[in-house]
Amino acid sequence: MGVCVAGATFTSCSQSETESSEDPIKNYSVERFADIEVLRYQLPGFNELTLQQKEYIYYLSQATNAGRDITWDQFGKYNIKIRTILEAIYTCEAVDKNSEDFKAMSTYLKRVWFSNGIYHHYANDKFKAEFSKEFLKAAAEKAGVAELIDEEIEKVIFDDTYLAKKVNKDAEADVVLTSAGNFYEGVTQAEVEALYKPLEAACTNECPSYGLNSKVIKADGKVTEQKYTANGLYGAAIKQIIYWLDKARSVAENEKQKEVISTLIEYYETGDLTTFDKYAVQWVQETDGDVDFVNGFTEVYDDPLGRKGTWEGVTNYKDKVATKRTETISANAQWFEDNSPVDPKFRKPQVRGIVAKVICATMLGGGTAPSTAIGINLPNANWIRAEYGSKSVTISNITDAYDKAARGNGFNAEFIADAKIREGLEKYGQLYDDLHTDLHECLGHGSGRLNEGVTASSLGIYHSAIEEARADLFGLYYMADQKLVDLGITPNATAYESYYYRYIMNGAMTQLTRIELGNNIEEAHMQDRALIANWCLKNAPEVVSLVKIDDKTYVEVKDFKALRQLFGKLLFEIQRITSEGDIKAAQELIETYAVKVDTDIHEEILNRISKLSIAPYKGFVNPLIKPVYDASGKIVDFEVTYNEMFDEQMLRYSKEFGFLK
Ligand code: ZN
Repeated sequence: MGVCVAGATFTSCSQSETESSEDPIKNYSVERFADIEVLRYQLPGFNELTLQQKEYIYYLSQATNAGRDITWDQFGKYNIKIRTILEAIYTCEAVDKNSEDFKAMSTYLKRVWFSNGIYHHYANDKFKAEFSKEFLKAAAEKAGVAELIDEEIEKVIFDDTYLAKKVNKDAEADVVLTSAGNFYEGVTQAEVEALYKPLEAACTNECPSYGLNSKVIKADGKVTEQKYTANGLYGAAIKQIIYWLDKARSVAENEKQKEVISTLIEYYETGDLTTFDKYAVQWVQETDGDVDFVNGFTEVYDDPLGRKGTWEGVTNYKDKVATKRTETISANAQWFEDNSPVDPKFRKPQVRGIVAKVICATMLGGGTAPSTAIGINLPNANWIRAEYGSKSVTISNITDAYDKAARGNGFNAEFIADAKIREGLEKYGQLYDDLHTDLHECLGHGSGRLNEGVTASSLGIYHSAIEEARADLFGLYYMADQKLVDLGITPNATAYESYYYRYIMNGAMTQLTRIELGNNIEEAHMQDRALIANWCLKNAPEVVSLVKIDDKTYVEVKDFKALRQLFGKLLFEIQRITSEGDIKAAQELIETYAVKVDTDIHEEILNRISKLSIAPYKGFVNPLIKPVYDASGKIVDFEVTYNEMFDEQMLRYSKEFGFLK
């Protein structure tokens, strides 16, 4: 759930006809520090929205920011206090800005801002403070925040072994006691399980997501929940969220949106999880408006028990041009199914394509900021998904920003020897990235049928990677089809070639930059790509192979049409495995092609990428949206600017939206 995306690299809003010819952003890269690069993203087509839509977006965006501190506190109970101390020092004129200690503290603070707390946003490990305790104390004195530093705070910042990991998923340990996230206090894993297991056992259908919106504590020897509500835990921030949601409701695009917001407000006020489900059902059914949002306790990855929802917010509007493309693909879903290169008995007689909506984000907040996903797939409750479906969206202005920021970073020059392929990617790379995601999401996952008695779990732990490979192959196979040229989606019969090249290169080589030397490939999408690339390389060296030029390894594709047939052939087999639930064959494929890494290649790739100084992790500053007033104080427009620096934005957010202590 959460996110499912096809490509390793990125797609864009730039096919949008509404994009103005002049890009308002001169430089997509804002800042680099540690293992992070901060980028900007733009709002293409924002000016063409109506004043009412802009106002709606503005209020929803404020509601997105209003919950920021909730996420900070969920990610560690000392996060906000530490932020307050460090921000005071960072902005204090009396503190020497040239000392090594100050520089080290600044980098630490930027990492903390980026991760909404003192733990790495991806690795979950606590950041190492590379400034001295003495510096911190003296600087805090000057900045007037010395009283906030007690022994506990010192230990949290400087003792690397204390509260060392935000989320510990080691099954051997008590994951509640050993995780530093702030979802539990004073309780053991067994006590938490004892709290929820009976509730779940007693529920037969339409079960609420027990525990989603609360902290579990022990009070007077009793294990109990502190609910996140307007009058409960995080009430000060939740009241602000409600304030902005209420304003948004008054300018919503339609009655359904008003109903959605009313139910969400009711949920924030009561904490009732049945109301939350009611809201989720209304939300998934509201598809008429151009503007949409996510606001609430959503993904559960930050809880070692996978139960507590991290607060997040996203405000967005529809990318109309890109959505037209996914509508065209979905309208032809049956043709794609009937012509797919799988055994006819595994085709679906009646297939319905999903219209993957493509959106432009206007504000990312809480758990989705500054680091964000490039797609959203909600709600998470399985019974709602089964009964009412889900909204699956790709965020095109985010993928566009990744792509623009990556230009000229030397990556293609380093890893692609053939200039024609590089030119092809310059010209069509984004289009095919988009298209691959669309085909993967709109058709790939929904294609094919299972034999009687076979379910998703028939493939056990191999299911995810096999399923991703199936959807990827479906997209790869069809992006080269004349049908797409006829539908006006692709420009000509050969433009796909550079994307094919890069797909193999990524799957066999460059995606390894995200793995440490000596480790296996574990993540399902990465396994999927490795499986496809390595299977083609091993089984058809006459079609595609790795070659050495000046001691560097490159991909060479000798026959693109034959490569397409190879994708079809592998899809044929993977569909068979899926339809028959052939777990042995799935295991064989994954273990042969998708897990182990060729150490020589891995070492070479890591070596080559390290010379390019490309940050492993990226995130974003939000655009600044401001109301424009006339002389009488009436809002007449909204202005978007893109000049804010990372530290400016973080400091402003702490000031304007710092609702918790
Ligand atoms: Zn997928």
